[in-house]
Amino acid sequence: MSNQSYRDSQFLDGLSGEELFSMQIGLTYRDFLVLPGFIDFNPSEVELETRLTKKIKLKRPFVSSPMDTVTESSMAIAQALMGGIGIIHYNNTVEEQVAEVSKVKRFENGFISDPVVLGPKNTIHDLDRIKETLGFTGIPITADGTRNSKLVGIVTNRDIDFERDRSIPVEKVMTTEVITGKAGITLKEANDIIKKEKIGKLPIIDKDGKLVSLVSRSDLKKNKEFPDSSKDENKRLRCGAAVSTLPESRDRVAALYEAGADVIIIDSAQGNSIYQIEMLQFIKSNFKNLEVIGGNVVTRGQAENLISAGADGLRIGMGPGSICITQDTMAVGRAQATAVYQTAAHAAKHDVPVIADGGISNIGDIANALAIGASACMMGFMFAGTTEAPGEYFYENGIRLKKYRGMASIEAMKAGGDKRYFNEGQKVKVAQGVSGSVVDRGSILNFIPYLSLGLRLSFQDMGFRSVQDLHQGLREGKLRFERRSESAQAQGSVHSLYSYSAPSLRAE
Ligand code: GDP
Ligand code: GDP
Ligand code: 5GP
Repeated sequence: MSNQSYRDSQFLDGLSGEELFSMQIGLTYRDFLVLPGFIDFNPSEVELETRLTKKIKLKRPFVSSPMDTVTESSMAIAQALMGGIGIIHYNNTVEEQVAEVSKVKRFENGFISDPVVLGPKNTIHDLDRIKETLGFTGIPITADGTRNSKLVGIVTNRDIDFERDRSIPVEKVMTTEVITGKAGITLKEANDIIKKEKIGKLPIIDKDGKLVSLVSRSDLKKNKEFPDSSKDENKRLRCGAAVSTLPESRDRVAALYEAGADVIIIDSAQGNSIYQIEMLQFIKSNFKNLEVIGGNVVTRGQAENLISAGADGLRIGMGPGSICITQDTMAVGRAQATAVYQTAAHAAKHDVPVIADGGISNIGDIANALAIGASACMMGFMFAGTTEAPGEYFYENGIRLKKYRGMASIEAMKAGGDKRYFNEGQKVKVAQGVSGSVVDRGSILNFIPYLSLGLRLSFQDMGFRSVQDLHQGLREGKLRFERRSESAQAQGSVHSLYSYSAPSLRAE
């Protein structure tokens, strides 16, 4: 019997996805299991590549939530380096959100097409200020201090680190014999010059000696260290940003687009609204290359409306979040696994990927979400305790914790986060989220490999080699599921022991 026929056994057990979710009851990730398949490959062969939107691919199916205790630039940089993506929250001013997106987009580059430049008369003090605010010191010096004028020198850290007098002009310390590349060379050729000449920066100039762009050695290193990173066509890290459906968000979107955001998430708790549809249409007609994720939705009808309005991806979930009390407060929402299955089944007909958002608290939940049709998983709880999440660690009963709060908690709303829930401007606020804490999970740089390995082992048990394979198995009814009784759920967790130490959800 060939491998293929082992895999495609005729003795199908359990239920297809369609059968499982045709039951008239809302299911969560814990209410069912995937039945094991046939193993004829190693976990290392499992391909976790997936799509975030119609056009954006990710090497890992992980997205960090747009929440002010989860995603600012440090998180978004780390997520993108590790193959996922971070969505910068908007509980801040337009300028603050744009600055966070810019930090991500400037972190790694191929050709830096808009390098920061100075003129010969600028002082070392000006360089210090750039170092302080932007973090780099390798600055091309042009004749009139603007881009697109003649390159006359370059200043790097080595030219200024021992200089006591910070008021002297850079022309006194700059290198004037600059090694340059010619406009039109490929990134590979530019990198070869950097390696051969052992330089840190390579300015690219046109035939008149005017500065065109800049290539940095450290980016070459970053590219090598993080081969799976999520990058745009200019080798800049991918970054998303969330906005509300309020009319003021139109200017925000324009500014985020300018800063290089790859994708905008329109953030509503109930996304099937005229406000969202108008915002979607506005973005799609004014920013043709910008990908837009609509949401949140949980039913086929809601999904259809946003897909028809032009959504390139959908965000699924109403009420499953760890910090969320929407279902209790509003009596509206849907059990998350049912929501993901139904919307994904519909969106697949239009080739629109869906993101399972909220309610994920271990690796099995991620595997289940992908198995029932999600292309990626958005997580707040899982990432909130990492080093890269905003905020400081603190101790309670000897446990190292970080704060994690819902964007519709009273605390976050007071800080400006009520735009998602049509609550803005009201004197009385109805909370749909709580404020709490989560345990330290170490750095994203260790946590993502841990999640990825767990996921690969899970795919191996299911007998599927890639997200794409899994989705095909789901559609063809080859991926088999089974409902779990309450006692089966209890048996599936640790039980009967007198005592045990709870497994820590982090890389050890
Ligand atoms: P890759 O998959 O990212 O290596 O993409 P390419 O094959 O298109 O890369 C072309 C060249 O650019 C190779 O020499 C890469 O090592 C290099 N490269 C890729 N990303 C970066 C980057 O962020 N900065 C720099 N300087 N070079 C890069
Ligand atoms: P420097 O030697 O102090 O300039 O710093 P590095 O070379 O170690 O790092 C500079 C990093 O900042 C690289 O990843 C660049 O891609 C990034 N960067 C983004 N925008 C700019 C820019 O306008 N100028 C410079 N010099 N670097 C930039
Ligand atoms: P978690 O990963 O913690 O289970 O869920 C995170 C998701 O919960 C977010 O991506 C967002 O969709 C949702 N969320 C964030 N803040 C709130 C809130 O205050 N109330 C509700 N209902 N949902 C929230």
